[in-house]
Parts: sequence; C-alpha cells; structure tokens
Amino acid sequence: MIRTIQDIAKQTAYETGREELSQRVLDTMAKIPRHEFVPDSQKPCAYDNRPLSIGHGQTISQPYIVALMTDLLDLELTDIVLEIGTGSGYQAAILSKLVKQVYTIEIIEALGKEAQPRFQILDYQNIEVKIGDGYLGWQEHAPYDAIIVTAAGMDIPPPLVSQLKNGGRLIIPVGERFQVQSLMLIEKNLEGQLQSRKVLPVAFVPLTRGRETLNDQI
Ligand code: SAH
Repeated sequence: MIRTIQDIAKQTAYETGREELSQRVLDTMAKIPRHEFVPDSQKPCAYDNRPLSIGHGQTISQPYIVALMTDLLDLELTDIVLEIGTGSGYQAAILSKLVKQVYTIEIIEALGKEAQPRFQILDYQNIEVKIGDGYLGWQEHAPYDAIIVTAAGMDIPPPLVSQLKNGGRLIIPVGERFQVQSLMLIEKNLEGQLQSRKVLPVAFVPLTRGRETLNDQI
C-alpha cells in the first residue's frame, strides 16, 4: 500500500507540489490497522488503495488521499489538531501518532459512538470525539495548529479559519455536492494573513449541517 501511495504521489506531484510524501507519515500509516476501522464486509479490501464504505452512506477516503492530506499539514509532535468528520476514526488514529492531541467532530451520532471504543481498544489515548456540527469548529480547544476536514464543504467554514492558529494549516475539499471538488490548502501566516491554493480534484461525501442530517435520519 505504501509503495502505491509513493508512486501516485510522484504522478500527481505537478498538481500537489509534493514529489514524495514524508516517511514519517507513511511509516505511521503502515502501523495503523485499517481493517479495524471498517465493517466486516470491507475487511478483505482494507489495504487496497481505494475508498471503503463505513456505513451510514459514508466512506473512508483512499489511503493516498489520507496520506496526502496528512502530509500537507506538516505536523509536529507538539501540535493540537482538529478533525471534522470522524467517520471510522482511521484518519484520527493516524493523526494521533503524529501530534500531541487530536480533537475530532462527527455529525452522525452512531459513527461517533462506534469510533470511540475503537480508540480505547487500540489504545489511542490522545483523541477526543464530540458529536456535533463540525462547521462550527470546537472553540473550547482553539486555536489549532492544523485543521483537517474530511467531508466536502460548499465554502471554507469561517469558524474553522478563525480557530486556526497563526502559522497553522487547514485542509478541506471545497465544491458542489456529488461533483468533483477541489482539495484546498489554506495557510495562515504568523501575521494572521491567509493564503490558499487548490491542491487536487477530489470526490468527498458532503459536509452536512445539523438540520439536514436530522432529516436524513427520519
Ligand atoms: N475521516 C473519516 C472519513 C470521513 S467520511 C475516516 O477516517 O473514516 C466524512 C465524515 O464526515 C462522515 O462520517 C460524515 O458523517 C461526517 N460529516 C459530514 N458533515 C459533518 C459535519 N458538519 N460535522 C461533522 N462531521 C460531518
């Protein structure tokens, strides 16, 4: 899986600006048991480089995209990170080995509640899960060194930008629902000014808001 990821990184370098993904990120991914995060039906394909269904109409991204997004955050062991879209917990588990503390928000209660015991069983001790609308961020623990959004927003949520530390990075797919979106990297410099660039075309499940998720469940 890791070899495949590096091969794709080389092929997409002209768009992403990264010829190779960092060894630190790839070594970490190699140690995380992806099969523990997916339903039984998906376990045989757990190490294929493709998205997997995690139930509730949601998917876990293909490992190359997980690796790229993680790499682009340039994480350090002292960082405090916010993830929007806990899903299976796979991305949060990777982050937890690369930084000091991970806060992750999931809007579908059942998914958030399934991820939590997974973190306990696998002994990831620096992950805190909250059920809620991640569009609003998690003010209590802000500011964050890095924020990763693993569902596609129609815009870049202003609360997330304001909860990003000066010198911090935010990665988010932005675009229309169920169409090709742009993976965007937003950097806030030490003076608080923003710079953003499009990294790659991607296809993510949509970032939903409270009311519509409720309607989906009815
Ligand atoms: N990072 C996940 C994959 C997430 S799929 C993993 O590693 O498995 C995207 C997730 O975002 C879904 O679980 C979806 O329910 C969640 N989501 C969508 N809109 C959200 C919102 N406004 N706040 C929090 N989570 C949201």
